[in-house]
Amino acid sequence: MAMSLRFASADDLTWSSDERIALEHATPRFGEVFIDHMALATWQAGDGWGDDAVVNYRGLDINPGGAVLHYAQEIFEGLKAYRHADGSVWLFRPDQNGERFALSAERLALPKLPIEDFVNACVRLAEVDARWVPDPGEDGEKSLYLRPFMIANQDFLGVAPATRVLFSVIGSPVGAYFVGGVKPVRILVERQQARTAPGGTGEAKCGGNYAASLRSQIEAQARGCAQVLFVDAVEHRWIEELGGMNFMAVSKDGQLITPELTGTILRGITRRSILEVAPDLGLEPVERKLGIDEMLDGVRSGEFPEVFACGTAAVVTPIGSFLDGDDEVTVAEPTGKTTMEIRRRLLDIQFGRAEDTRGWLKRVC
Ligand SMILES: *Cc1c(COP(=O)(O)O)cnc(C)c1O
Repeated sequence: MAMSLRFASADDLTWSSDERIALEHATPRFGEVFIDHMALATWQAGDGWGDDAVVNYRGLDINPGGAVLHYAQEIFEGLKAYRHADGSVWLFRPDQNGERFALSAERLALPKLPIEDFVNACVRLAEVDARWVPDPGEDGEKSLYLRPFMIANQDFLGVAPATRVLFSVIGSPVGAYFVGGVKPVRILVERQQARTAPGGTGEAKCGGNYAASLRSQIEAQARGCAQVLFVDAVEHRWIEELGGMNFMAVSKDGQLITPELTGTILRGITRRSILEVAPDLGLEPVERKLGIDEMLDGVRSGEFPEVFACGTAAVVTPIGSFLDGDDEVTVAEPTGKTTMEIRRRLLDIQFGRAEDTRGWLKRVC
């Protein structure tokens, strides 16, 4: 039987000063500043997983012939570590990230990392770098973002699944997504370019999907929009999701509608968690095909008074308007009651301010 990975600390770990960490926590620079350490493990065909450890954050040893640089055999995850009022540190549904990571690995022909090992890597890193997990702060939303990823790490230009693979978890402190209060965003409706297609990799969390969405994202920003809403690649009429967030609409009669999972939509853990808490808030969760024109007409008529995007990074992002070609479609209640209630409910569970009745939190230390 395979041994589970321990991710023991290397014996040469070095540490930032309390002063430096306090400074980075004061104004977190998400994705720019990384915590002192990283979890690492390697996989080799025939041998399986090994070389697991928590080591100092450092460059990876990848040669120019490394397969990941050429063929994008890569997957990743994103989750956060939260500090509760009593000082304890917790992860939110890390087993769900581990399960999705295994699905992504399978789609990208990467080796499966057992869920237990995935969770343990995240727990161990958050434990070693617990000093880097901020207090929630004034906005009540500061946390430590963890980024697990797996890459083909073999010098080989032949097109074949790698026989050597690297798994790592790195971390970066993150503040409230909206500084100075939640503000609704403007969204560009993308009817032509797709981020993925049926039979493709849309359901896998892989870098390639993001690369395919960047050109639309540039256009969105040039037109004063924060993000892009993608529709399906076949009929160009069914809403899928944003570049990195799932999509939801609140109907005036209390339905919470989100596009059903069709294989081209990422299985968001925030999405699923919101669908699960919806009945507690008196909402009826509905997963179905949602047409872009039906949605925009519903926003115009008031049938959908609130619409929002959701994902780990921003939790819930209210949408204020859509830019569809040259048409501007304005949402009636952009920071509406339901949207803000859902947002508050999730954050309260994550930060231990509401009871975790579903056993979603895993204690780190
Ligand atoms: C990660 C991701 C999401 C959100 O998933 P969460 O598990 O809620 O963070 C949505 N869409 C895409 C394309 C993603 O990569």
